Amino acid sequence: MTLVLKIDPEKPDLNDVWVAARFLREGGLVAFPTETVYGLGANALDEAAVLRIFQVKNRPTDNPLIVHIANKDDVNVLAERVPDIAERLIDIFWPGPLTLLLPKSELVPAVTTAGLATVAVRMPSHPIAQALIKEADVPVAAPSANLAGKPSPTSAKHVLDDFFNKIEVVIDGGEVGYGVESTVLDVTVDPPVVLRPGPITVGELRQILGRVEVHPIAKAEMPAEAAIAKAPGMKYRHYAPKAELVLVEGSPRNVVDKIKELKESYEQLGKRVGIMATAETAGEYGSALVKVVGERKNLRTIAKGLFKTLREFDLENMDVILAEGVEPEGIGLAIMNRLRKAAAGLVKME
Ligand code: AMP
Ligand code: MG
Repeated sequence: MTLVLKIDPEKPDLNDVWVAARFLREGGLVAFPTETVYGLGANALDEAAVLRIFQVKNRPTDNPLIVHIANKDDVNVLAERVPDIAERLIDIFWPGPLTLLLPKSELVPAVTTAGLATVAVRMPSHPIAQALIKEADVPVAAPSANLAGKPSPTSAKHVLDDFFNKIEVVIDGGEVGYGVESTVLDVTVDPPVVLRPGPITVGELRQILGRVEVHPIAKAEMPAEAAIAKAPGMKYRHYAPKAELVLVEGSPRNVVDKIKELKESYEQLGKRVGIMATAETAGEYGSALVKVVGERKNLRTIAKGLFKTLREFDLENMDVILAEGVEPEGIGLAIMNRLRKAAAGLVKME
């Protein structure tokens, strides 16, 4: 059985929050909204509960989890040491979509960090996430609440599509805000390194810290299998819809022309072709099944619509999805990281 609790994010009903928190404390799995995507939570200090996360997601056990807290001070329980630059970032960006890698304390079990000496910690800003973690009064390990390899969930419906009757509780708190997962920053090295681009952009981090590097796996330009070193989870193909996704990158004009060409060729082969387009260019493709993911002039709308649109294509049984790329700058880097990891094929234009 999965208990679905509908909770108003503006005014969380504390009785419902209490029920969900009880399940967390007793070793259960509770999916909940955060400001990035929905998370699949378990008590981060309970080995058996954390192991169940890996089992139900079918997630390889060498892919570590992010631990979520509701008070800034709790970082000191999870981390052996909090470097000065981490303190500065915590002051500025928490609560919010920034995950920090820190040297882990004895308290955190090895399953949670996949045996690594570092622990990934974040304090979410979503009121339901905050209320739940506070009430549970334990740190909450929570990867995205999707089956491994599928697009991350941005609504409770997506979570139920993947986990109905496999987890104890799903909190339905409506659609999430950002739509892509948190920025992951390694602050155990100097200069700090972005391992996963997200809503807090590289530019924002550089404004505070000066030098910040971006790991090649964060750009997702190198073949996934080669990217094992720092972020073990990143070597797997992610976010992929059932159809074959072909990503076309380049200037908008060239991208549109190439997608039209590809569409004709695939259709000649008898394939069902869907196009993931932007608002500015969607009118160019004629009769095809076109879905608008968001606006080029506001890339945050594309981040928000990305996973939802990929999941919608799955319901239409397409053979091929042709996706427009965007400029990999600002939040665009987070979008392109997800699309490149989801893509079976990549076409680069001028
Ligand atoms: P998910 O929450 O499913 O989006 O995945 C969490 C992400 O954080 C994965 O990409 C992990 O590789 C990354 N991560 C978590 N803990 C660590 C760690 N200790 N070192 C490196 N990456 C980590
Ligand atoms: Mg994930």
